[in-house]
Amino acid sequence: MNINENYSNLEQSYLFSTIAKKVKEFSENNPYKKIIRLGIGDVTLPLCKCVTDAMHKAVDEMGVQETFRGYGPEQGYQFVSSAVQSYYAKRGVTLELDEIFISDGAKSDLGNILDLFSKDNTVLVPDPVYPVYVDTNIMAGRKVIFADANGENEFLPMPDNNVKADLIYICSPNNPTGAVYNKEQLKKWVDYALSNNAVILFDAAYESFISDENLPRSIYEIEGAKNCAIEFCSLSKTAGFTGTRCGYTIVPAALGALNKYWLRRQTTKFNGVPYIIQRGAEAVFTEQGQKEIKENIAYYKENAKVISETLTRLGIWHVGGKHSPYIWLKCPNNMSSWDFFDYLLENAQVVGTPGAGFGKNGEGYFRLTSFGSKENTIEAMERFKKLFK
Ligand code: PLP
Repeated sequence: MNINENYSNLEQSYLFSTIAKKVKEFSENNPYKKIIRLGIGDVTLPLCKCVTDAMHKAVDEMGVQETFRGYGPEQGYQFVSSAVQSYYAKRGVTLELDEIFISDGAKSDLGNILDLFSKDNTVLVPDPVYPVYVDTNIMAGRKVIFADANGENEFLPMPDNNVKADLIYICSPNNPTGAVYNKEQLKKWVDYALSNNAVILFDAAYESFISDENLPRSIYEIEGAKNCAIEFCSLSKTAGFTGTRCGYTIVPAALGALNKYWLRRQTTKFNGVPYIIQRGAEAVFTEQGQKEIKENIAYYKENAKVISETLTRLGIWHVGGKHSPYIWLKCPNNMSSWDFFDYLLENAQVVGTPGAGFGKNGEGYFRLTSFGSKENTIEAMERFKKLFK
């Protein structure tokens, strides 16, 4: 047998293990100092009541002969696809049910979608970004090129007609920078994809954090996008499903073979999301569900506001936070990302994520998240005020 040696080309990810090691060492040496973690990319608020109610009801159904369900449709029950369809319709985006695929989250789909593309495609990935895009393509042996996101373009790189790419990743609102494309900017990417016969893989995992109605939450709000884009979305950050697992991917019928092949791929390699979870997902899209999840998102966004206002007051350059749970700041005094990590841990006992872990352009930057508790976020910012006054 021959092993897939592409795996040996993956760069080891030391980011989160190094953070954990440094924090452990610090707390062993300073057992009485309270550490505040603003580095986590995971939600902390529990599932909404209407979601758990729906799941309880589904559990009961599974225990009764008449309502028990075995294998479901691999691409999801229609009650969830219809809910997603109405959700998009509210934003003026018309989707057919067979363009909507329910999955166990965006991460799996972002990796799995690559089954549909040949190895010789060139992949364009923004830098810095969510590391899954790069690693899944390295595993498949594809050539990855980067679009620089930096202070000059406000972390929103635009297409370059001299660069030829077949697959283009766009993450808006972005992890880690929190930057969001507006409609005009996204239109340029759509035009670029259409004229290069490329496909955009649009990651909308944080769309529910967008508060400005004029900003696009779906790439299909842009004319022409159905002819060149696949959209990935998730209930992880929207509704606290990080451990529960449910998301959805839109593959427009206009993409022809890609829609058919994705159905074929999912029906062959995937057996669907558990019925109980899909009932919980359905509840997210009800009027009550939307009300409840918006309260949770508002809680996180209030934290983001506290962070952002403090940084503004202290004159620390940053983006994000407004339409995203992430705040991306420039390390003060030109410190490197890791130096700043150590400095913050040592002097304020606040833990964040060094930007260098998300790509070369992340060096000198730092990510804070709003997923902590309100009390801890406020306390962390009080410590910032003392440290950087
Ligand atoms: N896309 C981005 C940009 C993310 O930051 C994350 C999770 O952190 C995901 C996708 C994964 O989402 P899911 O939990 O649905 O797999």
